[in-house]
Amino acid sequence: MLFWGHALGAHSHTHVSLGAPELSRTQLRAELLRPKDYLRETFNVPIHALAYPFGDAKDCLTAEQLRSHTSEYTLAFSGKPILNTTSTPSLELGRYMVMSTDSTQRLREIVDNIVAQ
Ligand SMILES: [Zn+2]
Repeated sequence: MLFWGHALGAHSHTHVSLGAPELSRTQLRAELLRPKDYLRETFNVPIHALAYPFGDAKDCLTAEQLRSHTSEYTLAFSGKPILNTTSTPSLELGRYMVMSTDSTQRLREIVDNIVAQ
């Protein structure tokens, strides 16, 4: 599935680490599905994407782990600053979290470094 422009995505229900081992299966499913349902019902648009809170590896699920809880997402973004290509698993995409302190020059440098990897 391709997305052009902007799309809404979920970011968990209570902004917890979704990789935290203390989350029960029921809690994790609620964290994954409640915001998706809320956004879909509120804005009447399909929700296909999840961006993990915090985004470190310990805060994210692998594609296989995510699929074991739900098949409702087709895109999932960690906080790993990588260039996503057609070979990047769609449930293990990277992203760069833009900070309010990033200047356009700094953002350009970050993007150039990601592309150069
Ligand atoms: Zn966040």
